[in-house]
Amino acid sequence: MDRRRFVTTAALAGAAGTLAACGGSSPSGAACGDGAAAGGERFEWKMVTAWPRDFPGLGTGANRLAEYIGRLSGGRLKVKVYGGGELVPPFEVFDAVSRGTAEMGHSTSYYWKGKVPAAQLFCSSPFGLTAQEINGWLYYGGGLELYREVYAPFGIVPFPAGNSGTQMGGWFNKEIRSMADIQGLKMRIPGLGGEILQRAGGTPVTTPGAEVFTALQTGVIDAAEWVGPWNDQALGLYSAGGYYYYPGWQETGSTIEAMVNREALDALPEDLQAAVEIAAQAVNTDMLAEFTANNARALKTLQEDHGVQLRAFPADVMARLQEITWEHLEEEAAGDELYARALASYRAYYESVVPWSRISEQHLMNLRDRA
Ligand code: CA
Repeated sequence: MDRRRFVTTAALAGAAGTLAACGGSSPSGAACGDGAAAGGERFEWKMVTAWPRDFPGLGTGANRLAEYIGRLSGGRLKVKVYGGGELVPPFEVFDAVSRGTAEMGHSTSYYWKGKVPAAQLFCSSPFGLTAQEINGWLYYGGGLELYREVYAPFGIVPFPAGNSGTQMGGWFNKEIRSMADIQGLKMRIPGLGGEILQRAGGTPVTTPGAEVFTALQTGVIDAAEWVGPWNDQALGLYSAGGYYYYPGWQETGSTIEAMVNREALDALPEDLQAAVEIAAQAVNTDMLAEFTANNARALKTLQEDHGVQLRAFPADVMARLQEITWEHLEEEAAGDELYARALASYRAYYESVVPWSRISEQHLMNLRDRA
């Protein structure tokens, strides 16, 4: 390519990016810089992730986030994506972004419950908000402000940047007929779901994705939840046998997060800060769409090509686990001022949105099923 043409193309791309970044209204009120338009300073960031490189949905979402930031910034902010373990191990993403080893991370907040217990609520709570509902809380119900307050002491600014949608309950080597079947059940189930299973008499384990299939097939564990049909098919969990249970009571609409180092974000001109924010919001929508379409396809394949047998959890088991969940959350939040405030906000929003969901989507879906 002729250099002059390249410069022209790059300048146009920069201008287009600036326009794109400045065109819409931003939830944070970020405005466009005046002195740092196209041709301004260039930045190169590293994004560490908690996923294997290119992993369906999660890893591809991280790639898309980097791509969108590049496009919105007209190439002035380049983000290089690292799979889990390539630069830092998956469970060190938070520390890496906090220290500034990487400017950015892509992960999920329940991995950080050991550092900040309240973080889990922004991902998903058992029997909690759906993807659409949690986005309402985060963007328009006070959730994102609390999320940022929780991460502020670590020098990290979080952005919702993906959602898996409602997950599946998991693969079980026996049928679950009553609470008695939960007793002693050894299950791969991380986060709050695992804590609830433990209170119900089970034994939760946090097996990394790559080891779930072998653990289930060899009987090291009795059950395992991973994500949903699309990702579970990718791990081959259907060939480990067992019943495929629904719904994913443990993860009802899990937020995937982008974390940005505070100093790195502050060092950007305002239009590039807006590019980061808008790219994250675009990926938040995009990932849910990708999961929804692919879960539907994969569920059909699992049932028709692999003979997978679906089972619904008994209603009384679900009701009991739901009671345990709210008791557990209230106990966990006691004595932790920030957790208590985050839980109060989450619960108030839950109580206000559920009646609306009941007469809107829930009722509509029930009617749709009768046709
Ligand atoms: Ca899961």
